[in-house]
Amino acid sequence: MENSDIPYASEKLMQLKSEYHVEVAADWGVDSDGAWQKGNWSKDELDRLYRSVGLLAGIMKGPNQFIENLGGVTVKKADIGLHGGEAQAHQVRFNSKGSFSAWTVVHEFAHAWDANHDWKLSRALEKYTGGSTRPFLSWLKKLIGLSDSKFFTQENKPGRRGRKPGCNAAGYFYGDKPSGSNWKFNRLEDFAESVAMYVGWARSNDLSNWAEARIKRYLLKDGDSDKSFGKDYWTYYAKFFYPEGGDYTKTKRWKFVEELVKGRIKIA
Ligand SMILES: [Zn+2]
Repeated sequence: MENSDIPYASEKLMQLKSEYHVEVAADWGVDSDGAWQKGNWSKDELDRLYRSVGLLAGIMKGPNQFIENLGGVTVKKADIGLHGGEAQAHQVRFNSKGSFSAWTVVHEFAHAWDANHDWKLSRALEKYTGGSTRPFLSWLKKLIGLSDSKFFTQENKPGRRGRKPGCNAAGYFYGDKPSGSNWKFNRLEDFAESVAMYVGWARSNDLSNWAEARIKRYLLKDGDSDKSFGKDYWTYYAKFFYPEGGDYTKTKRWKFVEELVKGRIKIA
C-alpha cells in the first residue's frame, strides 16, 4: 500500500467492517522511525476482496445473512508456504508471497462459512450429492489397479492425477459431478469449490470466466493442453465431471448451494 492510497484503503476497510464484519489486519503504515511501510497489501487487492465478499454475500439473502453465516472474519496476508490461501472459523489468510484471485476469496470464505458451522455444511453436501469418505475402499481401489493415482502420493502426469472418485488422499468418493477433482480433493474442498462455482456460474461476474473454463476443459480431446489447466485426458475424465448438456445448474452441487442459501437445507 502506498502512502497516497491511505484514504482509499481506510474507506474500504471501513466498508468491509460495517457491511460484512470483515476485518483486514492492516500491515501498512508509518513505523516507529517515521518511515512508510508498504506492507503486503495493494489497493487492488483490497478492492478485489471487497467486491468478492460482495459476490458471496450476494448469493445469500444479503449482508446480514452473510454476517450471520460467517460470524465475523479477520483477513491477513501471511507466509503460509505453498498455499494460495487458508481458512478456519473467523479467519482467512492469503499468501503474502503473491496475490489472490476473486475465486480464491470466495473459496476461502466458503471454508470459513463451513468452519463456522463445525464443517457440517460440507458433510451435508457430501450426503446430498451421494458421496462418501471411505479410506479402506479407496485403498482397495488403488490396490487392484482401478485408480488413476499412485497408492500414497500424487502423480503429475496426464490421466494420473487422481481425479476419479475415491482416488485421492482422503478416500473421498464424490457423488454426482463436481467441476473437478484431484489428489487433494475431499468434502471440505468440494464445498468451497461448489460455492465458488455457484457464485460464478452464468452470472457474468469476476468468477464467471473461471467457472466456465472449469467445465469447458472437458470438451478438449485426450492429451490436449489447456492454457490454465494443462495437459490431461479431458475426454476420458468428462464422464466424471462434464454436466448434462454442459449446464452446471443441472448438477447436484449447484442445487445444493441453491437450497442452502435459500435456507432449505437443515444443518443438524
Ligand atoms: Zn480450500
